[in-house]
Amino acid sequence: MLEDFRISPADSLDIAIAGCGPAGLAAALLLHRGGHRVTLFERFDEPRPLGSGLMLQPTGMAVLAKLGLAEAVAMRGARIDALKGLEEHGRTALDAPYSRLGLPGAFGIGIHRASLFDVLYQAALGAGIEIQTAHEITGSALAAGGRQLIFADGARSRPMDLLVDATGWNTPLGDGGADSAGASVLPFGALWASLPVAPDDSHARNLLEQRYRRASQMVGVLPIGTRGPGQPQEVAFFWSLKGADHARWLATPLDDWKAEVRALWPQIAFLLDRIHTRDQLTFARYAHRTARRSHGDKFIRIGDAWHSASPQLGQGANMALLDAWALAQRLSEGRSVTEALRYVCATRRGHVALYQAVTAAFTPLFQSDSTLLPALRDRVLAPLSGFAPVARIQAQLMSGLFGWPLAMLGLDAPDYAALAAAQQEVT
Ligand SMILES: Cc1cc2nc3c(=O)[nH]c(=O)nc-3n(C[C@H](O)[C@H](O)[C@H](O)COP(=O)(O)OP(=O)(O)OC[C@H]3O[C@@H](n4cnc5c(N)ncnc54)[C@H](O)[C@@H]3O)c2cc1C
Repeated sequence: MLEDFRISPADSLDIAIAGCGPAGLAAALLLHRGGHRVTLFERFDEPRPLGSGLMLQPTGMAVLAKLGLAEAVAMRGARIDALKGLEEHGRTALDAPYSRLGLPGAFGIGIHRASLFDVLYQAALGAGIEIQTAHEITGSALAAGGRQLIFADGARSRPMDLLVDATGWNTPLGDGGADSAGASVLPFGALWASLPVAPDDSHARNLLEQRYRRASQMVGVLPIGTRGPGQPQEVAFFWSLKGADHARWLATPLDDWKAEVRALWPQIAFLLDRIHTRDQLTFARYAHRTARRSHGDKFIRIGDAWHSASPQLGQGANMALLDAWALAQRLSEGRSVTEALRYVCATRRGHVALYQAVTAAFTPLFQSDSTLLPALRDRVLAPLSGFAPVARIQAQLMSGLFGWPLAMLGLDAPDYAALAAAQQEVT
């Protein structure tokens, strides 16, 4: 084991990464490339993603580009040029095109979680990274020689130089030299489904579209590309639902619920016709939390294990990728492990705090029982976003670029011409 002296490029740390989500897989690839011995631990027998779609922003794509995976991801995903939301009477509530970013050719990418996972996972397998599945982690402990993971069957890993907690918002690693994480589950979650679409369907191909009735009802459609060659194009469909109302939804006839959705957005009746059973819909809850301590002795949290939020701004996976990049970078700069971990958190903390605050402020505009907040959204914020400086700030916030995260991490904006060309190849 390395003691806490400066790591030179020739030193190879023995690193355990807990969790095979976007944060864990990206960190594994980047650290492996940095010359470290990396072992991934995951609870599933077969690592697999849960859920439907997500949005990749310029921030996340910048990290994927460094991994040489941006084009593979773009080829699986759908190009998203703007986020558009209308309230029930047709008034614009949200209009955030990427063209207002001032980043030539920029766009977002809607992608099925399984596609992002598959690209990262295959890359990890291809790189020969050791992946230990069926390992339910329950904690960690410092031992002579390093930090050990503790598993549900009582077994322990070998002592390692560094443990990276990438187990998501419900992390079992409330120890690790850091305080307990303390998650706060938000009242509203959403039902999600991945639905196939055909070329003659009438949905917008390049938009994340939403419809709102005040903030208590929201339905959205996000194109998410295809899960692979020969697979259909899909969209992620989502319907806002309070956790407290989930049992009532389960007891309501499916057709009654569909009538409620159709009343808010009649044009998506064709998608509702493709929902035949409740099993097609997954109810996802969201937690808003920031771990009180992001790092400790031979321990660091990245991604949702450090900070999680509602997906209203579509940043979580992108923030996770930025954290993974920051960790690999800082460990390659000739510091001690302790200094490097401190520096990772120092460089990411501002961006994380900003997005935690902005997401907490924005989410109730779209998911809450308030009548005042959606009125403010529709009558004040939406008209204001028509003015150039506000429009640009809004576009930067939505794309994850507010606060200059790329420059702070030495990352370049993705090459959107190349990404657009990769997408053209598929169509
Ligand atoms: C419905 C929904 C929509 C979203 N939309 C977006 C979006 O549009 N854009 C965006 O950027 N983000 C979005 N997010 C957020 C995004 O999914 C997360 O921020 C992202 O997945 C975090 O990645 P992660 O690797 O940190 O954690 P996770 O993806 O949660 O991965 C954690 C991994 O750790 C494993 N694990 C957990 N506990 C243990 C244990 N005890 N032992 C062993 N392994 C364990 C899990 O099995 C999993 O593989 C959305 C989230 C939800 C729920």
